[in-house]
Amino acid sequence: GREWHLAARPQGWPVPADFALVEAPVRRPGPGEITVRNAYLSVDPYMRGRMNDVKSYVAPYALGGPMDGGAVGYVVASEAEGFAVGDAVLHGLGWREYATLGAAHAVKVDPELAPLSAYLGVLGMPGMTAYAGLLEVASFKEGDTVFVSGAAGAVGSLVGQIARLKGAKRVVGSAGSAAKVATLVEQYGFDAAFDYKAGPVAEQLAEAAPEGIDVYFDNVGGEHLEAAIGALNVHGRVTLCGAIAQYNDTSAPAGPRNLALAIGKRLRLQGMIVGDHAALREQFFAEVGGWLRSGELRFDETVVEGVENTAEAFIGLLRGANTGKMVVKV
Ligand code: NDP
Repeated sequence: GREWHLAARPQGWPVPADFALVEAPVRRPGPGEITVRNAYLSVDPYMRGRMNDVKSYVAPYALGGPMDGGAVGYVVASEAEGFAVGDAVLHGLGWREYATLGAAHAVKVDPELAPLSAYLGVLGMPGMTAYAGLLEVASFKEGDTVFVSGAAGAVGSLVGQIARLKGAKRVVGSAGSAAKVATLVEQYGFDAAFDYKAGPVAEQLAEAAPEGIDVYFDNVGGEHLEAAIGALNVHGRVTLCGAIAQYNDTSAPAGPRNLALAIGKRLRLQGMIVGDHAALREQFFAEVGGWLRSGELRFDETVVEGVENTAEAFIGLLRGANTGKMVVKV
């Protein structure tokens, strides 16, 4: 089977030559193991950080070694109790066609309940991030005005809709094109949205949320975070989820320059890592699953075809080529 290796550590933006698609033997499963034919691979922004040789909450990819990440697929061989050929599973050995792993590191998923790829998006890690990040980390409450950046992406599109479904007073989003802005308002029910490339974020945010905001869900960092600090009301809360505007920077970022405003406004700015919120998983599944069945929650996917196009899909994700979750169909 084919698998992707990290060929070089990127300097700034990743380029195709940083990745190599190599042929590797498919190992037979040992006791307690399964072999999975991957159907969908996830590409996610956090993978950019793993391409650097720095200590973080996930280990860096080894130079010259295989890359990994979320994947869903079908069991093709099993030496593990409770796993049969044909079972659909979610696991962490993506970026490849076939994966052999301990069954303890795989969870069975139900392809009848939702399309398989949804377990990488709305019903998976990004969905949990949106749900826990808004409800638990930002302590969202009914009547809050919520602003989310990266709002047309996997996490952001769900944050805005969950806020609406939970009784937000006003939901505002930003994204990187006029088409995405239209999707936010017309498909996802945001009250207002703007294209951050069309003008200064602070000015556009003031127009979209004239009475200020109570919650900012930050996927972007930099100018967005600075503008949000300016727009936050007293006792506002910020979920620091991601800072994608800075992931390819080669020098330290300049802002937010107004961080000291957090004092007088008694703001709460809290970083999050989705893995800390596993206790919410059942509630997340029940509530988000219910909204999917009732049709109240919409989700988009951008599907790139072919394992050989995984690196391109990942680079595209960093550049905004996706609406909703970016996945690769193997
Ligand atoms: P998305 O589906 O949102 O894809 C990334 C998007 O980022 C692109 O589509 C692009 O959309 C936008 N983007 C790229 N560059 C910029 C920029 N300079 N300024 C503003 N937007 C930009 O990815 P995810 O939903 O998977 O992830 C969203 C964020 O959440 C990321 O920052 C990620 O690291 C973070 N995250 C954090 C987790 C945690 O546990 N803390 C868990 C999961 C995700 P556009 O066209 O709008 O520019």
